[in-house]
Amino acid sequence: MLKHSFVKRILLIAFLLLVVLFFLKLIPFWFLFVPALLYLVAIAVGSYFIQLNYFLVSFNKSTKQEKKIALTFDDGPITEKTLHLLDLLKAEDVKATFFLIGKNIRGNENVVRRIVEDGHLVGSHSYSHTNAFPLFSKEKIMNDIAKGNEAIERVTGRNVLWFRPPFGVTNPNIAKAVTELKLQSIGWSIRSYDTVINDEQKLLSRLEKTKAGDIILLHDWGAKTLAVLPSFVSKYKALGFEFVGIDELM
Ligand SMILES: [Zn+2]
Repeated sequence: MLKHSFVKRILLIAFLLLVVLFFLKLIPFWFLFVPALLYLVAIAVGSYFIQLNYFLVSFNKSTKQEKKIALTFDDGPITEKTLHLLDLLKAEDVKATFFLIGKNIRGNENVVRRIVEDGHLVGSHSYSHTNAFPLFSKEKIMNDIAKGNEAIERVTGRNVLWFRPPFGVTNPNIAKAVTELKLQSIGWSIRSYDTVINDEQKLLSRLEKTKAGDIILLHDWGAKTLAVLPSFVSKYKALGFEFVGIDELM
């Protein structure tokens, strides 16, 4: 809430100053709307870019100067797709972090167990992952996340420590819910856009922006994700990088 509260305070002061200037007839009336407009822009930008830590401080990138990278996969488990991904990660001998949607777990318990057995980390990506999630009240968000955590913990037997907000959207209610549930929000520093990019070369170019300490956002269901991962991984391994779970970046 720190940055958001700060911006709110500054804009309120600016507004009061403008009111004074308006009554002194130094500025036109419409100037009074500028702080409100800036406030709305700040909220929109702050909600969309998780890396700004505008409403909530997320772990987005390592500050250590080590040649380590974290691959993160959202939206699983998705039966066949996640299993193929796990086969690929095993063949490449790399560790990753999976942010699971709670409602996808029923019927896919074996997939979740395999994720853990293969040595990957698991975090929550909410229970419902519904489009309305960012519009929920704090209580509803807390219930949704808690339900997702239960679904994961029932299968893995491990406490959920990390949460990736659906769509990467944050706001005051999500910030309060995540803080009260004592979860660490996890963002990213490289957004692959693997759910919208259909061109393998383009996707690879985006991934090749990766530098030491980056957290890469990918999805189990990305159309070209599995196709480009082997080239990306072998190139970075040859450069001396190691692929690790997010905990090793902290
Ligand atoms: Zn998602």
